[in-house]
This record gives sequence, C-alpha cells and structure tokens, in this order.
Amino acid sequence: MMEQDMEQILFTQAQVAGRIREMAREITRDYAGKAPLVVGILRGSFIFMADLVRQVELPLCLDFMSASSYGAGTVSSGKVNIRLDLQEDIAGRDVLLVEDILDTGNTLSKLVAELQARGPASLKLCVLLDKPDRRTKPIQADYVGFTIPDAFVVGCGLDYDQRYRNLPYIGILKPSVYESENP
Ligand code: 5GP
Repeated sequence: MMEQDMEQILFTQAQVAGRIREMAREITRDYAGKAPLVVGILRGSFIFMADLVRQVELPLCLDFMSASSYGAGTVSSGKVNIRLDLQEDIAGRDVLLVEDILDTGNTLSKLVAELQARGPASLKLCVLLDKPDRRTKPIQADYVGFTIPDAFVVGCGLDYDQRYRNLPYIGILKPSVYESENP
C-alpha cells in the first residue's frame, strides 16, 4: 500500500507484528499480578496500542490522552498543553504510557512529569520507535520496539500531514512527496 511514496521500507508488516508480540510478552511478564492502566497518546499510538494490548494477558484498563507542546521553537519552560485529558484517576495505579515514537523527548518528558504529579503507583513508557540521536531531554522508554536513525518515518499510526497512518509497515517517505506539496 502506497509503496510508491516510500524511499525505503524500514520494517515490514510481519517484522512489526513480530516485535509487538515480543513486547506484549515482556509486558505480560513484568506486570504479572497487576492490572495496569494502559494510556495511549493520540493520535499516533492508536494502531500500535491496539496491536499490543490484544496480546497482553493481563486484566488491564485503557485510557487515552492528547497533548501538544506550547509554541514550536520557543523555549519550553511551561507545562504541556493537554488537549484531551484522561477519564481515569491514576493515583495509585500502575500506568503504562504508550506512544508511537520518542524523538526529542520534549512532549513526553513534560507529559511524564504531569502524570507523575498525579501520584501513580508506577509509570512506565512504551514506544514503538525510538530516535535517540534527536534526544534533547533526558528521557528513556522502558519498552522500545525498534531503535531507528534520524529519518522521518510514517505508517503504523505515524503520519505526514495526517496521511499514511494506516500503512501496515514503517517507511521513510520520498523527499519528492514533501517537495511536491511544499513547492
Ligand atoms: P518529541 O516531543 O519527542 O520531539 O515529538 C514526538 C512527536 O513528534 C511524536 O509523537 C510524533 O508525533 C512526532 N514525530 C517525531 N518523529 C517523527 C517521525 O519520524 N515521523 C512522524 N510521522 N512523526 C514524528
């Protein structure tokens, strides 16, 4: 699907599925005896989270939130801008935060601080992709699907201008796709 727009396919549908299966096993083992609250960050996490939780064998609950950083390019001293907050009270809960990609870490480090302030019993971070080369904040994920180089990727929930989220693989977009849309 839409392979003609890809510079390279980084991970095939089968590779993604295989890795998510391994992550689910790890989470099932690590949280044995617990009932975690799995929190997806919209919109990017929804496909990864759906694939993941269906293979986690625990009595878990789900919730979602959406956040954005204040003003791109400005010095980020303020709090994260929560556009959609959780329905659940996370005090005393074992929270597993699920995100599509950990890039600079700006958004996630603020979000983690915000959630920590609500007093969860534990808070861990699970990402499908990690781009450590771009990190500007001291934040690490507890569960990482794939570590990737500094390239702009799409698919499996990740978009370019709200498109490509539904690709079943993870690919690097051809520069001509950007160039044709931003002449
Ligand atoms: P951060 O605050 O870590 O810099 O930004 C994280 C957000 O930037 C991710 O949730 C994602 O929405 C977006 N992002 C970062 N890298 C990529 C990428 O390679 N592809 C896509 N589609 N989005 C990305």
